[in-house]
Amino acid sequence: MNRFAVASPRTITEAAVAMSTTVASAMTLATGTAEPGDAAIVKAGGIDLLDLLKEGLLRPARVVNLADVPGLADVTEEKDGGLRIGPMVTLAALAAHRLVHERYPALAEALSSAASPQIRNVATLGGNLLQRPRCWYFRSNAYHCLRKGGGHCFAVAGANQYHAIFNNMACAIVHPSTAALVLVALGANIEIANAAGTARRLALEDFFVPPERDLQRENDLQPHEIVTAIRLPKPSASLHMAHLKQAEKDSFDWPLADVAVALELSAGGACTRAAIVLGAAAAVPYRAKTAEGLLTGKRIDEKLAAEAAHAAGLHLRSDLPPAMTGEDFGWMLQTCPGAYVWIGNGPGADLHNDGYDFNDAILPAAATYLASVARRALAEG
Ligand SMILES: Cc1cc2nc3c(=O)[nH]c(=O)nc-3n(C[C@H](O)[C@H](O)[C@H](O)COP(=O)(O)OP(=O)(O)OC[C@H]3O[C@@H](n4cnc5c(N)ncnc54)[C@H](O)[C@@H]3O)c2cc1C
Ligand code: SF4
Repeated sequence: MNRFAVASPRTITEAAVAMSTTVASAMTLATGTAEPGDAAIVKAGGIDLLDLLKEGLLRPARVVNLADVPGLADVTEEKDGGLRIGPMVTLAALAAHRLVHERYPALAEALSSAASPQIRNVATLGGNLLQRPRCWYFRSNAYHCLRKGGGHCFAVAGANQYHAIFNNMACAIVHPSTAALVLVALGANIEIANAAGTARRLALEDFFVPPERDLQRENDLQPHEIVTAIRLPKPSASLHMAHLKQAEKDSFDWPLADVAVALELSAGGACTRAAIVLGAAAAVPYRAKTAEGLLTGKRIDEKLAAEAAHAAGLHLRSDLPPAMTGEDFGWMLQTCPGAYVWIGNGPGADLHNDGYDFNDAILPAAATYLASVARRALAEG
């Protein structure tokens, strides 16, 4: 970690003036160099930021700590019945907030399912929405991948088990924020202020930037901009919502898959609005629009729900199963053309899985095959 100065602004404008660049730009510039840059970046709880600093992926000259800006952790009911949530509220405090429990139970559930109690006591909602992706190549200083300004995506041929299943051709990260799914399903807005004191507000869904729009940032935050609030609309009496998360571990683990659903039903039981948002599936919280369209205007029964679930996965490339291969191979293939050959794996569990059972009897045949490939390559010069 490099040495850096710390700024403790007392107002939002002071903070925006002090913050010279987004973490995404600072990382792109810092990666691949040993020099500290002149970046001044924002810190909230610091959970994600410290990871990046310790890995040497980020070398700021100054860290702008938002902890002393008054009001940024407030949660207030608005005149229209909506909720205004300050970005510095911790995940634990927001999950325990009475109005969140009563009116947005799916959000309380999602917040409580993220990370561990210790992390939730420090991590803030703003930081959660703006945390950088978990792709292991991205998180390692050894891999200068596309998202950090390099020329190659290591996940394509490398270890991509936890990567995107939708829209994954440019960069296959999955969106890391659990809270974002529910907030998008509930139609939340995000409020941002800049150094000139001007505020802008946009739908949270539009704040997230997919790789096809920009490979090197995940959101629309600009230099000298601070997130000042998340606004939730008042829930209608007919709103039903749920969040489900599946992870490998029950505690402190990002989801393998999760989903947030918000449905509004008419007095007769027909669905008047459906939002189905998939997590850990794409680079941004992914709206399953075909499934939403199937539900809208109809009464939902078991059969229709099953059809919608199927429709939510219609764009899956079933011919490309996720692979758990070797990152060193991904790196090697950049410079040396090659191919993966699986021999002796059988139809059982995948590599790096407890149930994996290699067929040792295949080794002589595999060695013969490898030798024949080498002989042919040598003969062809
Ligand atoms: C073991 C583990 C498990 C985890 N599991 C999950 C999980 O299941 N689900 C999940 O969602 N998360 C999970 N996390 C991630 C964790 O929730 C985030 O790292 C945390 O929420 C980040 O919040 P923070 O306040 O510490 O942000 P920081 O690290 O301080 O900041 C994160 C980013 O946000 C920017 N930022 C913060 N606030 C503002 C603001 N107001 N204006 C402008 N920019 C801002 C910072 O500049 C930085 O780029 C896990 C983390 C760990 C370590
Ligand atoms: S998916 Fe590829 S380009 Fe995207 S962060 Fe990972 S290695 Fe980098």
